Amino acid sequence: MHRVVLATGNRGKAREISQLLGPGWQLLLQSELGVRPVAETGTGFAENALLKARHAAAATGLPALADDSGLEVDALGGAPGVRSARYAGEDASDADNVRHLLEEMAGLPAGRRTARFRCVLAYVRTGDDPRPLLAEGVWEGAVATAPRGTAGFGYDPVFEDGQSGLTAAELPAGRKDELSHRGQALRVLRQLLGPDSSGVPGRV
Ligand code: IMP
Repeated sequence: MHRVVLATGNRGKAREISQLLGPGWQLLLQSELGVRPVAETGTGFAENALLKARHAAAATGLPALADDSGLEVDALGGAPGVRSARYAGEDASDADNVRHLLEEMAGLPAGRRTARFRCVLAYVRTGDDPRPLLAEGVWEGAVATAPRGTAGFGYDPVFEDGQSGLTAAELPAGRKDELSHRGQALRVLRQLLGPDSSGVPGRV
């Protein structure tokens, strides 16, 4: 069994990561262990993911997994990017961020609404692990003109999957995990971790 601290306070992410990892993993939320979030001062997803993972591992003495992710809109020069969670302000809700995004993109025709979700996962065994594992996933799509669907979190109601045209919040259960930036990054991370990453009890 892998016992790992998850360096996030975002419930949507935690739910998806726990589902993607499956039963061989015991995920502990850093908030439940009294770890306060670290300032995300990095300039990119990888830097921030590593900052968060190192901080959680150093504070708890446990291996740590962190996710840094966001939405990149071509017409906005890659924004909101690493600022996705704070796009409409420091304490912005998901609804505030979605509203702000739609306002910034008002009037843009369908062909100019291309975007992608990007996720970098960082895994460290200790706070000063000299060989951190990093895995990235990208999900291509476009930004809708109005929210659709009720599943997921964050920008899901306005992110249209490039293949089906459904928003991430409209996809049938389980389909987001197959397509998403987070699902792709998790599968890469499992490969990097090797055969034991299935978490078969007694093998780690
Ligand atoms: P972070 O905690 O700085 O990595 O913030 C990530 C932000 O990006 C989230 O708060 C969401 O706004 C957005 N985001 C990342 N992944 C997803 C997703 O799978 N669906 C919807 N929004 C996402």
